[in-house]
Amino acid sequence: TKGSSYQNVLEILGIAGENKGSSTGTNWFSSGEWIDVVSPVDGNLMAKVQTSSKEDYNKVIETATAAFEKWKKVPAPQRGEIVRQFADKLRANKTALGELVSYEMGKSFQEGLGEVQEMIDICDFAVGLSRQLHGLTMHSERPGHRMYEQWHPLGIVGIISAFNFPVAVWSWNSALALVCGDVCVWKPSEKTPLTAVACQKLLSQVLSDNSLPEGISCLVTGDSRVGELLSKDTRIPLVSATGSTRMGKIVAKAVASRLGKSLLELGGNNAIIVTPDADIKMTVIGAVFGAVGTCGQRCTSTRRLIVHQKVYDQVKDALVEAYGQLKIGDPLNEANHVGPLIDTDAVKMYLDALEKAKEQGAVVLTESGRLEGNEYQSGCYVRPAVVEASNDFNIVQQETFAPILYLIKYDGDLENAIAMQNGVVQGLSSAIMTNNLREAELFLSNQGSDCGIANVNIGTSGAEIGGAFGGEKETGGGRESGSDAWKVYMRRQTNTINYTTTIPLAQGIKFDL
Ligand code: NAD
Repeated sequence: TKGSSYQNVLEILGIAGENKGSSTGTNWFSSGEWIDVVSPVDGNLMAKVQTSSKEDYNKVIETATAAFEKWKKVPAPQRGEIVRQFADKLRANKTALGELVSYEMGKSFQEGLGEVQEMIDICDFAVGLSRQLHGLTMHSERPGHRMYEQWHPLGIVGIISAFNFPVAVWSWNSALALVCGDVCVWKPSEKTPLTAVACQKLLSQVLSDNSLPEGISCLVTGDSRVGELLSKDTRIPLVSATGSTRMGKIVAKAVASRLGKSLLELGGNNAIIVTPDADIKMTVIGAVFGAVGTCGQRCTSTRRLIVHQKVYDQVKDALVEAYGQLKIGDPLNEANHVGPLIDTDAVKMYLDALEKAKEQGAVVLTESGRLEGNEYQSGCYVRPAVVEASNDFNIVQQETFAPILYLIKYDGDLENAIAMQNGVVQGLSSAIMTNNLREAELFLSNQGSDCGIANVNIGTSGAEIGGAFGGEKETGGGRESGSDAWKVYMRRQTNTINYTTTIPLAQGIKFDL
């Protein structure tokens, strides 16, 4: 059934046909090797997608460079109008694109739709923003002078994205970058190139309907080698990279060595603290969804549950009971709670992590392992696991991108739990479950969570586009999406205007000629 509806989806998105290589009007050039796109849902070959060679890449950058010269002159609210039209395109194609995300990446259909909704939301945000790219005015120390600052477009924004949010992360960057007057070159994950081709096609249509240069939004396909071309390219003032900390360290170094700007959105090791004053029912729902949603493959997935010893057994029993009820299978079937991991390499990482945890003294509390049988023929389905562990175990200190939840006990004061929660190298998302005002405020204070996101009585996973999204430490320090995250996509200029007939110098310096 998915096979047939999937062909329809490609028709609707205008990318049907056996193999996908670049075509005119998409500003995606590809003449390199072909990637097999295999669905983790059923193991079927969905399509072959052609990658971009170095020559293709250079052609794309030349087109983007030329497009920037035109696009930066379009007034910002008119740029917002283009993003508004793109949001309409997404609304019209929401079901098809959501289904493609789900089938290519393996997240549930609801999550696929949710991802497209996030794209629509950030476009709406960007449309409003296009009339609010505000600078400040300052009082000059010199009489008859005016001082202000303004924000100008930067140029080409390179966007490197991860497989787990194959389309939303691109839109978080591109919707803002476009209203800021930048042009975008997107290198999606080599694990999810089809959804990228679909999005690029939809945006290209909007550009062509408005007689705008197609180079305003460009696509390059391929693996880390194409990503490296972006990060080393002096023609690209800003590289926004989402993915593993390992990748971020390489990209950050390459971009910094040419004094470019990078925006890094890297791995997390997110914890929920559960105090004796927590609502246990809410805690269990929040923790289970946070740990098993998207099969544990969200950067904000809950990886650690740090529970006070007074409520530890109660939470542990409720979790094991809840995990026993989880339905695992085809993510396009809405009766299932958990879909597959992205590929069999990810399954291996999950199995290795469980082995290491046991070697280091952890106890696996739930049934775990890979699922076999007809329904699981892709080989990518695993059982989500709850593992009793200690925060200082080596494996607990790392991000394993899979549904493994470490259950950790704390004694005494909340400070002990906060020290554990902060005692990892990552700093993305965090939460506390408590009805105690003092605990909640301490957790949010400067003595509390050291993460970019800190929640009270909500889990770690998911975020609204209105807030700035990102994290500290090895999560990379970047912020995307709402609040004033747009500023990274622009260059700030300070202006001083003298409307007198004399030329007084700053700091009262005299320079008589
Ligand atoms: P990954 O690091 O393997 O790949 C991410 C992207 O980087 C891909 O497009 C890949 O081709 C590219 N890449 C890899 N090496 C590169 C290099 N040396 N130079 C340039 N580009 C390179 O990550 P993944 O497995 O696709 O995604 C999972 C990771 O992403 C997890 O660690 C997750 O926490 C993180 N993530 C973070 C956020 C966030 O906002 N903080 C969001 C989503 C995912």
